[in-house]
Order: sequence, then C-alpha cells, then structure tokens
Amino acid sequence: MSERVRSVLALGSNLGASRDTLVRAVADLVEPDGVSLYALSPVARTKPVGGPEQPDFLNMVIEVESSLAPLELLAHCQEVEEKHQRTRTVRWGPRTLDVDIITYGSWTSDDPTLTIPHPRAATRAFVLQPWAWMDPGARLNGRLVSELAAEAPDLPGLVPFEEDQGG
Ligand code: ATP
Ligand code: CA
Ligand code: CA
Repeated sequence: MSERVRSVLALGSNLGASRDTLVRAVADLVEPDGVSLYALSPVARTKPVGGPEQPDFLNMVIEVESSLAPLELLAHCQEVEEKHQRTRTVRWGPRTLDVDIITYGSWTSDDPTLTIPHPRAATRAFVLQPWAWMDPGARLNGRLVSELAAEAPDLPGLVPFEEDQGG
C-alpha cells in the first residue's frame, strides 16, 4: 500500500451557483481511488481580495488523504477546476472555481509551479478561518491557524455562509 499524505485544499467560487459548485467540486476532488476526504470546513462568504470589482466569494477548505505525488495532486485539482468551466481572464478576477493546495504533509517547495505551503495562505482569512473552524489546533509555519486568521487583513469581510443568502 502506498503512503497516503494529508493535504489541505482551499476552494473558492464567485461566479455561477457557487454553493453547488463547491459541493460538486468536493465530490470530484475525492472521487479518485487515490484521494479520500479526511475533513471539511463550513463555508464562508468573503469580500474579494485584490483584483477587479467582483461578486463576493464562497470559500471553504477540505483536508484530503492522498497517494498522489504533489504535482499529480495539482494536476488533479486543475482538472476539477476545468470540469467546472473555470476560465482564466483577469488575475485574481472572478471564477467559477479555484482550488489551491495549501499544504502537502510536511513537504515544502519553492517551485513557482507548486509552492507549498501556499505562499499567500498565511495572510488570507478566506483560507485561514474556514481551516480554523475545521481544525482548531491546525498550525501553519509554526503558528496556530486561528491566530493567523485573527491577524489577517480580510477577516472583517468574512461571515459564515447561510443558505438564505443565495450564491
Ligand atoms: P493565488 O495563487 O494568489 O491564490 P490564483 O489562485 O488566482 O492566485 P491561479 O491562476 O489559479 O492563481 O494559479 C496560477 C498558478 O499558480 C498555477 O498555474 C499553479 O501552477 C501555481 N501554483 C503555485 N503554487 C500553487 C499551489 N500551492 N496551489 C495551486 N496552484 C499553485
Ligand atoms: Ca487562489
Ligand atoms: Ca489557484
């Protein structure tokens, strides 16, 4: 049996039926035999950070256990993005689905194709807060994720997603 590594994946959507997209994307992400769901977070509604004027995002994180190599996991995440008709126009612009790899076990990489931990995760409440909800003891770069979330500049724009808000 091959070794399975735990990874945190961050999902975001602000175009189309975002809640449905997130639910389907989670199912697609854990569909292969080599990937299984270990934990998932509640969904947050967040104000966009950077980029053009655009709708609010829905964000969540999941923790998976996988036997995929890092670049295989990235390719898998990108296939799921493509399945959900992600189009890439403006950087940090609106998208039907974005899936980022935040951590891959204790492995680290400076490679621009796959930088692990994700280089901007430690300052993004839209990643950190759902992660802290999912796993209150989680750490990133030696710090508690909940503490990093509390310091993140975008925390004031984040609320728990409620069904009747739409999106
Ligand atoms: P950001 O990276 O700031 O969240 P983004 O998600 O909008 O921005 P993308 O256009 O989705 O950026 O990705 C650009 C490239 O980032 C991808 O082609 C991918 O190769 C690379 N990349 C590097 N590290 C990671 C990572 N940890 N997770 C996902 N993609 C990564
Ligand atoms: Ca991203
Ligand atoms: Ca991305």
